[in-house]
Amino acid sequence: LFVCFEGGDGAGKSTQSRLLRDWLVDRGRTVLLTFEPGDTEVGKELRRIVLDPATGHLSDRTEALLYIADKAEHVDHVVLPALARGEVVITDRYVDSTLAYQGAGRTLEVSEVEGVARWATADLRPHLTVVLDLAPEAGLGRFDGRDRIEGQSLEFHQRVRQGFLDLAAADPDHYAVLDAREPIEEIAAAIRARIEPLLED
Ligand code: C5P
Repeated sequence: LFVCFEGGDGAGKSTQSRLLRDWLVDRGRTVLLTFEPGDTEVGKELRRIVLDPATGHLSDRTEALLYIADKAEHVDHVVLPALARGEVVITDRYVDSTLAYQGAGRTLEVSEVEGVARWATADLRPHLTVVLDLAPEAGLGRFDGRDRIEGQSLEFHQRVRQGFLDLAAADPDHYAVLDAREPIEEIAAAIRARIEPLLED
């Protein structure tokens, strides 16, 4: 089982992914909780480059390719091996983040970015993607020190939010869109309700 958490900054992805992990572990599953960008050796370097304000201006396509390179490392070295061992894999961000940030946000053609990202990830798709939806004004307020991306304009972050919502609307069977302003425990329960049927097969 492969589950992915998506959404803007400050929407609660890491909190909810940990709660889901704990619940699955209590049910006897072996769970790998991982994230993008940066959960591999090379990925750490790529994360530093894309997020360090000192990097300065990157071409939009360079930025997209660096995030996508991180995904190729992540899928080959972390996600696929864990799935092959029969583990549940939960990832905090995946392909949709790149489609939303580097596609919709930077205004690269989403379908073109998607082609490259699908190739890089061997077309591995989550059984369920949870989108924690939050207005960027609310999410970004939770950060003081801003990285290269969090410091982008409000309009950028609004395009990102809409990018996630458009992806979910196009494929509702594989998405759960939840209002990130709801209480943590209610969101967690809604996620469990979507995961439960997937555990049976
Ligand atoms: O989720 P996390 O906080 O690790 O993401 C780090 C930063 O990378 C955030 O500012 C996020 O907005 C940005 N990001 C991005 N494009 C992606 C993934 C993350 O701009 N594909």
